[in-house]
Amino acid sequence: MKGIIFSVKRYSIHDGPGIRVTFYMKGCPLSCIWCHNPEGISPLPEKAVRTNRVGGKSFSREEEVGRFYTIKEIINILDRERVFIDQSGGGVTFSGGEPLLQPDFLIEVLKACKANGYHTAVDTAGYSSSDNYRTIIPFTDLFLFDLKHLDDARHMEVTGVSNVLILENFRLLLENANEIMIRIPVIPGINDDKDHLERMVKFIADSKTTALKKVNLLPYHKTGSSKYKRFNRINKMEGTEPPSKEQMRLLKEKFGETGVKTKIGG
Ligand code: SF4
Repeated sequence: MKGIIFSVKRYSIHDGPGIRVTFYMKGCPLSCIWCHNPEGISPLPEKAVRTNRVGGKSFSREEEVGRFYTIKEIINILDRERVFIDQSGGGVTFSGGEPLLQPDFLIEVLKACKANGYHTAVDTAGYSSSDNYRTIIPFTDLFLFDLKHLDDARHMEVTGVSNVLILENFRLLLENANEIMIRIPVIPGINDDKDHLERMVKFIADSKTTALKKVNLLPYHKTGSSKYKRFNRINKMEGTEPPSKEQMRLLKEKFGETGVKTKIGG
């Protein structure tokens, strides 16, 4: 069995506890207009143009993004980093894209990781069948669950899908998962207005269960913008500035009032 992955990040420290290896799985059912990983949206390998500058000259070459990995290859990559993972209390994270878009591969790779003694995390946008979540819960130590917008019509407008299934799956995980961290991207002009943020704070306060460990507030950043050129896509967030440090500090304070540990960044 193979899964398609578009990037492997070693020594990752923002995708769960300790030092981790993060596998970015290709394919996502959402199309968020601020997406930092547009190369993760298509479920197929695709071509991109990479331009390097050497001595004032530019050299462009075509590269293929996305390749198929076997479960054995994944375990081999983890085994090579085992010493860092073990000493730091780290593990492996499956991110994307949306890892649950490859449910058969995901369940088998999670089982293999657990059988080899690795702490497992799944970073999900929540948009997959509830049965898929039920199947992976026993093999997932931590869910990183993205909450983008609580208003269904606005969610549809900015991500391309309804949030009804997402919120259903969120409740399922709150009641059944080992641990959850909520990730809220703070996107100027999209979900950072006062009303929505107050709603979100109340929603978090009402969602407290023993599984809910933390809220991560992820400020919008522009580092993904060059990718839109490489992948020949329109960047609808062109010209948008990230939220200020002060805005993020105030938000951290507000979300902290829920009693759930809150952090800026992953
Ligand atoms: S859910 Fe994540 S990967 Fe998918 S489109 Fe949105 S930001 Fe991009």
